[in-house]
Amino acid sequence: MSCTEQPLDYKALHQDAIVVDLHSDTPLRMRRGIDFSVRDTAGHMDIPRLQEGGIDLQVFACWISTGTLLDSCKAKVDELIDTLESQIKKNPDKIEICLTAADAERIIGEGKIAAFIGIENGVAIASDISNVDYFYNRGVRYMTLTHTESSDWCISSGDDEPAFKGLTDFGRDVVRRMNELGMIVDISHAHVDAVEEVLKITTDPIIASHSCVYALCEHDRNLTDEQIRAIAENGGVIGINFYNTYLSQEWKEKADSLYGLIRPQVKMLMEKYKDDDSARYGAIMELYGQITPHMDSLTVDVNTVVDHIDYIVKLVGPEYVGFGSDYDGVPVVPKGLDDCSMVPNITAELVNRGYSEKDIRKILGENFMRVFRQVCD
Ligand SMILES: [Zn+2]
Repeated sequence: MSCTEQPLDYKALHQDAIVVDLHSDTPLRMRRGIDFSVRDTAGHMDIPRLQEGGIDLQVFACWISTGTLLDSCKAKVDELIDTLESQIKKNPDKIEICLTAADAERIIGEGKIAAFIGIENGVAIASDISNVDYFYNRGVRYMTLTHTESSDWCISSGDDEPAFKGLTDFGRDVVRRMNELGMIVDISHAHVDAVEEVLKITTDPIIASHSCVYALCEHDRNLTDEQIRAIAENGGVIGINFYNTYLSQEWKEKADSLYGLIRPQVKMLMEKYKDDDSARYGAIMELYGQITPHMDSLTVDVNTVVDHIDYIVKLVGPEYVGFGSDYDGVPVVPKGLDDCSMVPNITAELVNRGYSEKDIRKILGENFMRVFRQVCD
Protein backbone atom coordinates (compact mmCIF):
# COMPACT_ATOMS: atom_id res chain seq x y z
CA MET A 1 0.00 0.00 0.00
CA SER A 2 1.33 3.42 -0.86
CA CYS A 3 1.03 6.33 1.53
CA THR A 4 -1.05 8.20 -1.08
CA GLU A 5 -3.85 5.63 -0.82
CA GLN A 6 -7.24 7.29 -1.27
CA PRO A 7 -9.83 6.99 1.48
CA LEU A 8 -12.80 4.81 0.49
CA ASP A 9 -15.47 6.63 -1.48
CA TYR A 10 -18.50 5.57 0.57
CA LYS A 11 -21.04 6.62 -2.05
CA ALA A 12 -19.41 4.58 -4.81
CA LEU A 13 -18.97 1.63 -2.49
CA HIS A 14 -22.59 1.78 -1.31
CA GLN A 15 -23.82 2.01 -4.89
CA ASP A 16 -21.74 -0.95 -6.00
CA ALA A 17 -22.33 -3.23 -3.00
CA ILE A 18 -25.39 -5.42 -2.56
CA VAL A 19 -27.39 -3.68 0.15
CA VAL A 20 -30.00 -5.67 2.05
CA ASP A 21 -32.57 -4.50 4.58
CA LEU A 22 -33.71 -7.58 6.50
CA HIS A 23 -37.02 -6.18 7.75
CA SER A 24 -39.66 -3.55 6.99
CA ASP A 25 -43.34 -3.54 7.86
CA THR A 26 -44.29 -1.54 4.77
CA PRO A 27 -47.05 -3.97 3.62
CA LEU A 28 -49.10 -2.59 6.54
CA ARG A 29 -48.72 0.92 5.14
CA MET A 30 -49.57 -0.38 1.67
CA ARG A 31 -52.78 -1.83 3.13
CA ARG A 32 -53.75 1.67 4.19
CA GLY A 33 -53.77 2.63 0.53
CA ILE A 34 -50.49 4.29 -0.43
CA ASP A 35 -49.05 4.24 -3.95
CA PHE A 36 -45.65 2.61 -3.46
CA SER A 37 -44.26 4.07 -6.69
CA VAL A 38 -44.67 7.66 -5.49
CA ARG A 39 -42.29 9.44 -3.13
CA ASP A 40 -44.23 10.00 0.07
CA THR A 41 -43.54 12.48 2.86
CA ALA A 42 -45.08 10.10 5.39
CA GLY A 43 -43.77 6.69 6.39
CA HIS A 44 -40.27 5.41 5.81
CA MET A 45 -40.27 3.62 2.48
CA ASP A 46 -41.39 3.68 -1.15
CA ILE A 47 -39.71 2.85 -4.46
CA PRO A 48 -38.10 6.28 -5.02
CA ARG A 49 -36.66 6.32 -1.51
CA LEU A 50 -35.44 2.70 -1.79
CA GLN A 51 -33.64 3.68 -4.99
CA GLU A 52 -32.09 6.75 -3.37
CA GLY A 53 -30.99 4.62 -0.44
CA GLY A 54 -29.28 2.18 -2.79
CA ILE A 55 -31.20 -0.75 -1.26
CA ASP A 56 -30.98 -3.78 -3.55
CA LEU A 57 -32.95 -6.34 -1.57
CA GLN A 58 -35.80 -5.35 0.68
CA VAL A 59 -37.60 -7.75 2.98
CA PHE A 60 -41.30 -6.93 3.23
CA ALA A 61 -42.69 -8.49 6.38
CA CYS A 62 -46.38 -9.36 6.42
CA TRP A 63 -47.38 -8.93 10.04
CA ILE A 64 -50.40 -10.05 12.00
CA SER A 65 -51.09 -9.72 15.69
CA THR A 66 -51.03 -12.67 18.06
CA GLY A 67 -54.63 -12.03 19.06
CA THR A 68 -55.93 -12.74 15.54
CA LEU A 69 -58.71 -15.35 15.52
CA LEU A 70 -57.45 -18.70 14.32
CA ASP A 71 -59.80 -18.92 11.35
CA SER A 72 -58.87 -15.50 9.98
CA CYS A 73 -55.05 -15.69 10.31
CA LYS A 74 -54.38 -17.15 6.87
CA ALA A 75 -56.76 -14.76 5.11
CA LYS A 76 -55.20 -11.72 6.79
CA VAL A 77 -51.69 -12.67 5.74
CA ASP A 78 -52.92 -13.55 2.24
CA GLU A 79 -54.42 -10.10 2.00
CA LEU A 80 -51.10 -8.44 2.91
CA ILE A 81 -49.21 -10.58 0.39
CA ASP A 82 -51.83 -9.73 -2.28
CA THR A 83 -51.43 -6.02 -1.51
CA LEU A 84 -47.63 -6.27 -1.74
CA GLU A 85 -47.80 -8.24 -4.99
CA SER A 86 -50.18 -5.77 -6.61
CA GLN A 87 -47.89 -2.83 -5.77
CA ILE A 88 -44.93 -4.77 -7.21
CA LYS A 89 -46.79 -5.81 -10.36
CA LYS A 90 -47.54 -2.14 -11.10
CA ASN A 91 -43.79 -1.45 -11.26
CA PRO A 92 -42.25 -4.35 -13.18
CA ASP A 93 -39.33 -2.23 -14.42
CA LYS A 94 -38.31 -1.26 -10.86
CA ILE A 95 -39.02 -4.13 -8.49
CA GLU A 96 -39.54 -7.89 -8.63
CA ILE A 97 -40.15 -10.67 -6.11
CA CYS A 98 -37.19 -12.99 -5.47
CA LEU A 99 -37.56 -16.59 -4.33
CA THR A 100 -33.88 -17.56 -4.26
CA ALA A 101 -30.57 -15.77 -3.84
CA ALA A 102 -29.81 -16.48 -7.51
CA ASP A 103 -33.12 -14.83 -8.39
CA ALA A 104 -32.20 -11.82 -6.29
CA GLU A 105 -28.80 -11.50 -7.96
CA ARG A 106 -30.39 -11.57 -11.42
CA ILE A 107 -33.02 -8.95 -10.43
CA ILE A 108 -30.38 -6.69 -8.86
CA GLY A 109 -28.17 -7.19 -11.95
CA GLU A 110 -31.04 -5.85 -14.06
CA GLY A 111 -30.99 -2.67 -11.96
CA LYS A 112 -34.16 -3.50 -10.05
CA ILE A 113 -34.99 -3.96 -6.38
CA ALA A 114 -35.38 -7.56 -5.25
CA ALA A 115 -38.45 -7.88 -3.02
CA PHE A 116 -38.30 -10.68 -0.45
CA ILE A 117 -41.54 -11.76 1.25
CA GLY A 118 -41.41 -12.47 4.97
CA ILE A 119 -44.09 -13.26 7.54
CA GLU A 120 -43.85 -11.65 10.95
CA ASN A 121 -45.55 -13.85 13.52
CA GLY A 122 -45.96 -17.61 13.26
CA VAL A 123 -49.63 -17.38 14.25
CA ALA A 124 -50.05 -16.78 10.49
CA ILE A 125 -50.09 -20.55 9.98
CA ALA A 126 -53.11 -20.92 12.32
CA SER A 127 -51.47 -23.86 14.14
CA ASP A 128 -51.69 -25.96 10.98
CA ILE A 129 -48.35 -27.29 9.72
CA SER A 130 -49.63 -27.55 6.14
CA ASN A 131 -49.86 -23.75 6.08
CA VAL A 132 -46.05 -23.54 6.26
CA ASP A 133 -46.09 -25.21 2.83
CA TYR A 134 -48.97 -23.00 1.73
CA PHE A 135 -47.07 -19.79 2.48
CA TYR A 136 -43.82 -21.19 1.09
CA ASN A 137 -45.70 -21.79 -2.17
CA ARG A 138 -46.93 -18.19 -2.05
CA GLY A 139 -43.29 -17.07 -2.07
CA VAL A 140 -42.64 -16.48 1.62
CA ARG A 141 -38.97 -17.14 2.40
CA TYR A 142 -38.72 -16.28 6.08
CA MET A 143 -41.04 -16.45 9.03
CA THR A 144 -40.55 -14.69 12.36
CA LEU A 145 -41.76 -17.34 14.78
CA THR A 146 -43.52 -15.05 17.23
CA HIS A 147 -44.26 -11.41 18.09
CA THR A 148 -44.68 -9.32 21.26
CA GLU A 149 -47.06 -11.85 22.83
CA SER A 150 -46.47 -15.59 23.12
CA SER A 151 -48.48 -17.84 20.85
CA ASP A 152 -49.66 -21.32 21.79
CA TRP A 153 -46.42 -22.77 20.36
CA CYS A 154 -43.66 -20.12 20.71
CA ILE A 155 -42.83 -17.91 23.70
CA SER A 156 -42.20 -14.20 23.15
CA SER A 157 -39.13 -12.36 24.49
CA GLY A 158 -41.04 -10.33 27.07
CA ASP A 159 -43.12 -13.14 28.56
CA ASP A 160 -42.37 -13.31 32.32
CA GLU A 161 -44.68 -16.24 32.96
CA PRO A 162 -44.14 -18.57 30.00
CA ALA A 163 -46.66 -21.41 29.73
CA PHE A 164 -43.96 -23.77 28.42
CA LYS A 165 -40.23 -23.73 27.73
CA GLY A 166 -39.63 -21.83 24.50
CA LEU A 167 -41.27 -24.08 21.93
CA THR A 168 -43.88 -26.82 22.04
CA ASP A 169 -43.53 -30.05 20.05
CA PHE A 170 -45.63 -28.39 17.36
CA GLY A 171 -43.23 -25.42 17.39
CA ARG A 172 -40.33 -27.81 16.82
CA ASP A 173 -42.25 -29.38 13.92
CA VAL A 174 -42.67 -25.92 12.39
CA VAL A 175 -38.92 -25.29 12.56
CA ARG A 176 -38.20 -28.72 11.01
CA ARG A 177 -40.72 -28.15 8.20
CA MET A 178 -39.21 -24.72 7.47
CA ASN A 179 -35.78 -26.36 7.27
CA GLU A 180 -37.10 -29.03 4.88
CA LEU A 181 -38.78 -26.52 2.59
CA GLY A 182 -36.00 -23.94 2.61
CA MET A 183 -37.70 -21.16 4.56
CA ILE A 184 -35.45 -19.12 6.87
CA VAL A 185 -36.28 -19.25 10.59
CA ASP A 186 -36.32 -15.76 12.12
CA ILE A 187 -35.93 -15.61 15.91
CA SER A 188 -36.45 -11.86 16.43
CA HIS A 189 -39.14 -11.42 19.14
CA ALA A 190 -38.54 -14.96 20.46
CA HIS A 191 -37.79 -15.74 24.11
CA VAL A 192 -34.23 -16.84 25.00
CA ASP A 193 -35.58 -20.34 25.70
CA ALA A 194 -37.26 -20.45 22.28
CA VAL A 195 -34.02 -19.38 20.57
CA GLU A 196 -32.17 -22.09 22.46
CA GLU A 197 -34.71 -24.71 21.33
CA VAL A 198 -34.52 -23.54 17.71
CA LEU A 199 -30.72 -23.72 17.74
CA LYS A 200 -30.84 -27.27 19.12
CA ILE A 201 -32.82 -28.61 16.16
CA THR A 202 -32.27 -26.36 13.14
CA THR A 203 -30.21 -27.84 10.32
CA ASP A 204 -29.96 -24.45 8.60
CA PRO A 205 -28.55 -21.06 9.57
CA ILE A 206 -31.15 -18.82 11.25
CA ILE A 207 -31.58 -15.07 11.38
CA ALA A 208 -32.61 -12.42 13.87
CA SER A 209 -34.03 -10.11 11.22
CA HIS A 210 -34.48 -7.03 13.41
CA SER A 211 -32.81 -7.19 16.82
CA CYS A 212 -30.11 -5.22 18.65
CA VAL A 213 -27.44 -5.92 21.27
CA TYR A 214 -28.55 -6.44 24.89
CA ALA A 215 -25.17 -5.40 26.30
CA LEU A 216 -25.76 -1.92 24.82
CA CYS A 217 -29.46 -1.62 25.60
CA GLU A 218 -31.13 -3.90 28.12
CA HIS A 219 -34.38 -4.59 26.31
CA ASP A 220 -35.89 -8.08 26.23
CA ARG A 221 -36.05 -7.80 22.42
CA ASN A 222 -32.26 -7.62 22.20
CA LEU A 223 -29.70 -10.40 21.99
CA THR A 224 -27.28 -11.38 24.75
CA ASP A 225 -23.62 -12.04 23.99
CA GLU A 226 -24.30 -15.73 24.43
CA GLN A 227 -27.09 -15.62 21.83
CA ILE A 228 -24.94 -13.63 19.42
CA ARG A 229 -22.16 -16.22 19.74
CA ALA A 230 -24.64 -19.06 19.22
CA ILE A 231 -26.10 -17.44 16.08
CA ALA A 232 -22.59 -16.88 14.71
CA GLU A 233 -21.72 -20.49 15.41
CA ASN A 234 -24.86 -21.51 13.52
CA GLY A 235 -23.70 -19.39 10.55
CA GLY A 236 -26.69 -17.08 10.82
CA VAL A 237 -27.02 -13.31 10.63
CA ILE A 238 -28.39 -10.54 12.87
CA GLY A 239 -30.08 -7.46 11.39
CA ILE A 240 -29.65 -4.42 13.63
CA ASN A 241 -33.01 -2.74 14.26
CA PHE A 242 -33.34 1.07 13.88
CA TYR A 243 -35.83 1.54 16.70
CA ASN A 244 -34.46 4.04 19.23
CA THR A 245 -35.97 2.10 22.13
CA TYR A 246 -33.90 -1.00 21.23
CA LEU A 247 -30.78 1.03 20.39
CA SER A 248 -30.34 3.30 23.38
CA GLN A 249 -30.65 2.45 27.07
CA GLU A 250 -31.14 6.13 27.90
CA TRP A 251 -33.88 6.47 25.32
CA LYS A 252 -35.59 3.30 26.48
CA GLU A 253 -35.65 4.43 30.12
CA LYS A 254 -37.01 7.86 29.28
CA ALA A 255 -39.61 6.47 26.87
CA ASP A 256 -40.73 3.97 29.53
CA SER A 257 -41.17 6.81 32.01
CA LEU A 258 -43.25 8.82 29.52
CA TYR A 259 -45.44 5.93 28.43
CA GLY A 260 -48.00 6.82 31.13
CA LEU A 261 -48.83 9.96 29.14
CA ILE A 262 -50.26 7.97 26.23
CA ARG A 263 -51.47 4.80 27.95
CA PRO A 264 -55.19 5.81 28.04
CA GLN A 265 -55.13 6.73 24.34
CA VAL A 266 -53.36 3.47 23.43
CA LYS A 267 -56.14 1.57 25.21
CA MET A 268 -58.79 3.56 23.38
CA LEU A 269 -57.19 2.93 19.96
CA MET A 270 -56.77 -0.79 20.68
CA GLU A 271 -60.51 -0.99 21.23
CA LYS A 272 -61.48 1.33 18.36
CA TYR A 273 -59.47 -0.57 15.75
CA LYS A 274 -59.65 -4.03 17.23
CA ASP A 275 -60.75 -5.55 13.90
CA ASP A 276 -58.33 -3.65 11.69
CA ASP A 277 -54.66 -4.56 12.29
CA SER A 278 -53.32 -2.09 9.80
CA ALA A 279 -55.29 0.93 11.05
CA ARG A 280 -54.58 0.04 14.69
CA TYR A 281 -50.87 -0.33 14.08
CA GLY A 282 -50.74 2.97 12.21
CA ALA A 283 -52.66 4.88 14.87
CA ILE A 284 -50.60 3.51 17.74
CA MET A 285 -47.32 4.17 15.94
CA GLU A 286 -48.40 7.77 15.42
CA LEU A 287 -49.28 8.08 19.08
CA TYR A 288 -45.87 6.74 20.16
CA GLY A 289 -44.33 9.35 17.90
CA GLN A 290 -45.86 11.99 20.19
CA ILE A 291 -43.38 11.04 22.89
CA THR A 292 -40.48 12.05 20.64
CA PRO A 293 -40.60 15.84 21.27
CA HIS A 294 -39.96 15.08 24.95
CA MET A 295 -36.76 13.25 24.04
CA ASP A 296 -34.92 16.14 22.38
CA SER A 297 -31.99 16.14 24.75
CA LEU A 298 -31.12 12.55 23.80
CA THR A 299 -29.15 11.78 20.68
CA VAL A 300 -29.77 8.53 18.91
CA ASP A 301 -28.22 8.63 15.46
CA VAL A 302 -26.32 6.68 12.80
CA ASN A 303 -23.45 6.33 15.28
CA THR A 304 -25.70 4.48 17.70
CA VAL A 305 -26.66 1.96 15.01
CA VAL A 306 -23.04 1.46 14.00
CA ASP A 307 -22.11 0.98 17.69
CA HIS A 308 -24.38 -2.09 17.66
CA ILE A 309 -22.83 -3.36 14.41
CA ASP A 310 -19.35 -2.73 15.84
CA TYR A 311 -20.16 -4.62 19.01
CA ILE A 312 -21.16 -7.75 17.09
CA VAL A 313 -18.14 -7.49 14.79
CA LYS A 314 -15.81 -7.28 17.79
CA LEU A 315 -17.55 -10.19 19.50
CA VAL A 316 -17.79 -12.68 16.62
CA GLY A 317 -16.36 -11.09 13.46
CA PRO A 318 -17.87 -9.24 10.47
CA GLU A 319 -19.70 -12.25 8.96
CA TYR A 320 -22.81 -12.30 11.12
CA VAL A 321 -24.30 -8.81 11.12
CA GLY A 322 -26.36 -6.63 8.83
CA PHE A 323 -29.36 -4.39 9.37
CA GLY A 324 -33.12 -4.90 9.58
CA SER A 325 -34.50 -1.37 9.80
CA ASP A 326 -38.05 -2.13 10.97
CA TYR A 327 -39.05 0.87 8.84
CA ASP A 328 -42.80 1.47 8.80
CA GLY A 329 -43.04 -0.72 11.88
CA VAL A 330 -41.54 1.56 14.55
CA PRO A 331 -42.56 5.10 15.55
CA VAL A 332 -39.13 6.65 15.95
CA VAL A 333 -35.83 6.05 14.21
CA PRO A 334 -32.33 7.56 14.65
CA LYS A 335 -31.36 10.97 13.33
CA GLY A 336 -29.72 10.58 9.96
CA LEU A 337 -31.73 7.43 9.23
CA ASP A 338 -35.08 9.20 9.06
CA ASP A 339 -36.19 7.04 6.14
CA CYS A 340 -34.72 4.40 3.85
CA SER A 341 -33.16 6.96 1.50
CA MET A 342 -30.61 7.72 4.25
CA VAL A 343 -29.17 4.22 4.61
CA PRO A 344 -25.91 5.26 2.85
CA ASN A 345 -25.09 7.13 6.07
CA ILE A 346 -24.36 3.74 7.64
CA THR A 347 -21.76 3.04 4.96
CA ALA A 348 -20.25 6.49 5.53
CA GLU A 349 -19.89 5.78 9.24
CA LEU A 350 -18.38 2.32 8.65
CA VAL A 351 -15.81 3.97 6.36
CA ASN A 352 -15.21 6.60 9.05
CA ARG A 353 -14.43 3.92 11.57
CA GLY A 354 -11.85 2.35 9.31
CA TYR A 355 -13.74 -0.72 8.16
CA SER A 356 -12.29 -2.37 5.06
CA GLU A 357 -14.21 -2.44 1.79
CA LYS A 358 -14.48 -6.22 2.08
CA ASP A 359 -16.04 -6.10 5.55
CA ILE A 360 -18.40 -3.28 4.62
CA ARG A 361 -19.73 -5.35 1.71
CA LYS A 362 -20.34 -8.27 4.06
CA ILE A 363 -22.26 -6.12 6.53
CA LEU A 364 -24.30 -4.29 3.89
CA GLY A 365 -25.62 -7.42 2.27
CA GLU A 366 -23.28 -10.33 1.59
CA ASN A 367 -23.88 -11.87 5.02
CA PHE A 368 -27.60 -12.13 4.42
CA MET A 369 -27.07 -13.31 0.83
CA ARG A 370 -24.92 -16.17 2.18
CA VAL A 371 -27.75 -17.34 4.46
CA PHE A 372 -30.39 -16.79 1.74
CA ARG A 373 -28.37 -18.91 -0.72
CA GLN A 374 -27.65 -21.63 1.82
CA VAL A 375 -31.25 -21.99 2.97
CA CYS A 376 -33.37 -21.20 -0.08
CA ASP A 377 -31.43 -21.98 -3.27
ZN1 LIG B 1 -41.02 -6.81 14.84
